[in-house]
Amino acid sequence: MAPTSLPKKWILAALLASAAAGVMAQDKVLNLYSARHYQTDEALYANFTKATGIRINRIDSDDAGVINRLKAEGAASPADVVLLVDAARLTRAEADGLFQPVNSAVLQQRIPAHLRDSGDGGGPQWFGFSTRARLIVYNKGTVQRADVDTYQELGEPKNKGKVCTRSGSHPYNLTLFGAMVQHLGAPATEVWLKGVVDNMARPPKGGDTDQIKAVASGECAIALTNSYYLARLMRSTKPEDVEVMSKVGFVFPNQESWGTHMNVAGGAVARHAKNRAEAVRFLEYLAGDEAQLYFANGNNEWPAVPSVRISGNPALEAMGSFKMDNLPIAQAGRNQAQVQQMLDRVGFK
Ligand code: FE
Repeated sequence: MAPTSLPKKWILAALLASAAAGVMAQDKVLNLYSARHYQTDEALYANFTKATGIRINRIDSDDAGVINRLKAEGAASPADVVLLVDAARLTRAEADGLFQPVNSAVLQQRIPAHLRDSGDGGGPQWFGFSTRARLIVYNKGTVQRADVDTYQELGEPKNKGKVCTRSGSHPYNLTLFGAMVQHLGAPATEVWLKGVVDNMARPPKGGDTDQIKAVASGECAIALTNSYYLARLMRSTKPEDVEVMSKVGFVFPNQESWGTHMNVAGGAVARHAKNRAEAVRFLEYLAGDEAQLYFANGNNEWPAVPSVRISGNPALEAMGSFKMDNLPIAQAGRNQAQVQQMLDRVGFK
């Protein structure tokens, strides 16, 4: 068939196809599976696109949703970058083969070793990009601060009937308890967990904010919370939140020993990433000064990069500086299966 006899619509289709291919070649895309959703993230992603020309295609879910989706999609997954919250989830996703090693000089230099994966499998498979402290809150009217300034005291008889927590199996607690295994050893940690169960004012239920409110109402007197939940209440102008915060005190535990337990929100390159170079570039971008501020401040957290300091966040300023536990957080996360067995034995729901 002579070219001149091609139907017009074929020629049009061919022209459109080549135009589309041209656009696709220039228009680099990064598929981001994210369990983080904060207003400041929009600016974060827009700035990355502005700086690199790489467009971000976001698939938002919660942590369990992101992990389940990655597992279900397997090798066909379009995911390039994965953002998850908590070292327990990050270490589990790594163990499930959902990530891949990343050897980046920028990331190794910017992210402290204790806030990233240890890299036993040929390079670190995930990196922390913001940090949160696990704090003890207490009712100022009924509890002496000195009786709750260590994690160990949550399990001591003097605090009987006073303690509230969310489920022991929640990642925030699994990682904290995994850190306790590193500090105290497994047998002493199990004794401690039994003590916490014996001290409970009610069976575990709700999230961290619910525990803070229960401390304020007097239903319990002592609880654990991630620092950003407390910061959120501290910044709230709602009368009921102001009322809650008037009754609640907080401590950074273990200032006289190993320091306060720190956890992370982190990122990784997906195992089957099709846009690997762009994915590494995005993680490196997250470790930059400006991105660190957006990423951390957006959820009232602290930057993972130590040289980056947040200013203008009244809650973080009010919390001040404190001694952080520098235990490798990946190690705490890896203890989660052992911790879960202990929880089952001591009846910590
Ligand atoms: Fe949370």
